[in-house]
Amino acid sequence: MNNPFNPHNTMKSIKDINFSGRKVLLRVDFNVPINDTGVITDDTRMRESMPTIEKLLADGAAIIIMAHFGRPKKGGFEPEFTLLPVAKHLETLVGRPVLFTQALLGSGEPEQMARNLKPRDILLLENIRFYPGETKGDDNLAQQLAALGDCYINDAFGAAHREHASTAVIASHFPDNKYFGFLMENEVRNLERLMQHAERPFTAIIGGSKVSSKIGILENLIDKVDNMIIIGGMRYTFTKALGGRIGNSICEDDKLDLARDLMRRMDEKGVRYYLPVDSVIGDRFANDANTQVVPSGEVPDGWESMDCGPKSCQAIHDIILASKTILWNGPAGVFELETFAKGTKAIASSVAQACKQGTFAAVGGGDSVAAVKQMNLADQMSYVSTGGGAMLEYLEGKTLPGIKAILS
Ligand code: ADP
Ligand code: MG
Repeated sequence: MNNPFNPHNTMKSIKDINFSGRKVLLRVDFNVPINDTGVITDDTRMRESMPTIEKLLADGAAIIIMAHFGRPKKGGFEPEFTLLPVAKHLETLVGRPVLFTQALLGSGEPEQMARNLKPRDILLLENIRFYPGETKGDDNLAQQLAALGDCYINDAFGAAHREHASTAVIASHFPDNKYFGFLMENEVRNLERLMQHAERPFTAIIGGSKVSSKIGILENLIDKVDNMIIIGGMRYTFTKALGGRIGNSICEDDKLDLARDLMRRMDEKGVRYYLPVDSVIGDRFANDANTQVVPSGEVPDGWESMDCGPKSCQAIHDIILASKTILWNGPAGVFELETFAKGTKAIASSVAQACKQGTFAAVGGGDSVAAVKQMNLADQMSYVSTGGGAMLEYLEGKTLPGIKAILS
C-alpha cells in the first residue's frame, strides 16, 4: 500500500510477521460501557481486537495490553475507573488467565510482572489515563511503557485521533518494530480506499442533527465526491437558506450563509447536491405524534420535520444504486423514534443493495453505526467504522496522530 508519510515504506501487516518469543506492547480501545454494578453492557470493542490478540497468542508472544477507560481527572488511581472488570471479561474472551494489577508504573509491580512474562502470557496494565502524562503525550511516560516490551502494535482506532503517550508518542521508541493491529489495518485500508482511491461515481450521504458538527466533513468532501446527499435535521438549514418554510424544524440560523456558500461551491465544482424534496413532519417529538408528508420547503408552523419522505427515499435510492463508492455519515431522521426511522431504514437498505452489486460503501459515526446495527444491516455494508470521532476527523481531512506515528 502507498504510504503518504514515508514513500519508501509500505505498510507491513502483522499477518506477515512472526511474534514468537517477543514481548508485544499492544494498545487497544477497551473503553466499553460498564454499569453501576461493574458489568460490561457491550463488549463489541473488546471482541474487535480479538483477532490481533489471537494472532499474537498463536505466534507465542507475550502481550502487554495498554487501554484507557473513561476520563479520570485526578492523576493516579481512582476506583471508579479501574480496568479490573475489563481484565476479568478478557479472561473469558481469551479463555486463559489475564495478569492484572491496580498498582501503577513506578511502584515496580507492573514492571516486575512484565519482566516475568512467558510466551502466551497476557498482562493488562491499569487504566493508562491514570497517568497525567498519557493525554499530554508525555515522552517520559512513553519511554517508561516502551521499556516493558520489544515492539509496539496499535489496534486502538477509536483513539487514533489523540496524540497521547500510548497511542502515538510511544511509537517513536520502536522505529523498526511498530505496526497496526488487524482492526487498525482494516480501518486504514478502507479509509484510504474511500478518500484516496474512490471509484466513481462517489456519493456522500451526510446527515445528522447539526450542520455545525459536519462543516469540516462537507468542506473536505466537496473536492472528492460527485454527489452529495444532504439529509437529517441539518438539511433544514439548507432548505431555509433557499427560502423554504421549515416550521419548527431544527435549524442553525447562524449557519444560513455557510449553507449558501457550500451550495455555491458545490455548483462551482460540479458536485451534484441533493436535498430531500419531501419530509415526514410531526406535531410533537414523540412516537405517537400526528404525522403527515409535505414538500420539504412547506412545513407549517407548529410542525417539525423529523424524517425524509417517500419521494426523497426513492430519489436517494436511485443515486445510491448508480454509485460505485458511498460514504454515509448521519441518519436521515430521528431514527431513535420508530415513527421517524423509515428514511434511515430505506437508505440503509438501498446501501446494502448497492453493496450486493459491488459498490464499496462505508458507514461511520456513532449514531449512524448504531442505526445500521439496530436495523441488522451492518454486516451487509462493505465497511462499518469502529471509530466515531477518529473516522469523522479522518473525513475532515485531518492527519490522525495514531496512524501517522506508525507510518512515518
Ligand atoms: P453521527 O453520530 O452518525 O455522526 P449525528 O450525531 O450527526 O450522527 O446525528 C445523529 C442525530 O441526528 C440523531 O440523534 C438523530 O435523531 C438526529 N436527527 C436526524 N434527523 C433529524 C431531524 N430531522 N430532526 C432532528 N434531529 C434529527
Ligand atoms: Mg452522533
